Amino acid sequence: MSTNVRTPLMAANWKMHLSVAEAVSFIAKLHEIVGTPQDREVLIAPPFTHLWPLREAMTAAGFSLSAQNCHWERQGAFTGEVSLTMIQETGCRYVIVGHSERRHIFGESDAWIGLKTAAALVHGVVPIVCIGEKIEEREAGLTEEVLRRQLTASVEGVSLQDPNRLVIAYEPVWAIGTGKTATPQQAQEAHAFVRQWLAKRFDKAVANGVRILYGGSVKPDNVDDLMAQPDIDGALVGGASLQVTSFARIVQFTRSVKNG
Ligand code: PEP
Repeated sequence: MSTNVRTPLMAANWKMHLSVAEAVSFIAKLHEIVGTPQDREVLIAPPFTHLWPLREAMTAAGFSLSAQNCHWERQGAFTGEVSLTMIQETGCRYVIVGHSERRHIFGESDAWIGLKTAAALVHGVVPIVCIGEKIEEREAGLTEEVLRRQLTASVEGVSLQDPNRLVIAYEPVWAIGTGKTATPQQAQEAHAFVRQWLAKRFDKAVANGVRILYGGSVKPDNVDDLMAQPDIDGALVGGASLQVTSFARIVQFTRSVKNG
């Protein structure tokens, strides 16, 4: 099902880490090491307070900026929330929605994630929709059922002609921040399932164009094997994106020829 035409997207999710000064020097150092890669896209999702101050450095380096979350309303009495209009104003091209920490620590529902995905598309901000099963769901053989439910809630209702407007991140909850990575085969199986779901919901061209990232303890020493899988189009990296040399090595993955 893979056509090997998708530009790899290597994404850093900094969560609630790094000061603005640390972030500025990280970007300069990363740019020094990796340059502006032509055959892959580098993305950084810093905390909200860093988006505006990082805008220029990110543009100069040729990296893409992403928010880690959003609210679906344009404005209103939503203390502590940030709208997509505001996010767009900071120069963000992407927004992460439905990260497992949002789902499991902050209680975000599938329905909310659907609203955020739809609103991001309306605002022209590319949603990176995170999905993934918990360990007990995997052990009970429910992985595909969970992914289907999450995809249905977040993506089923949207209209999508251009596959570049949507990114899916498959992040098994048991692999996030635990040091346990899905094997390349486990990740590939889940990614192939997601791509088939997209083909059924949209069409083959859209399914072949949407990038599906893997997230869950991606590190310099496992990125090449993961990226060798035909349906893995990039990585969403937490812990290993906080050290510049480690994230630079992840960005500089080498890929053996993909089938497909
Ligand atoms: C994440 O937060 O999306 C993530 C995958 O974290 P880590 O790389 O630390 O597992």
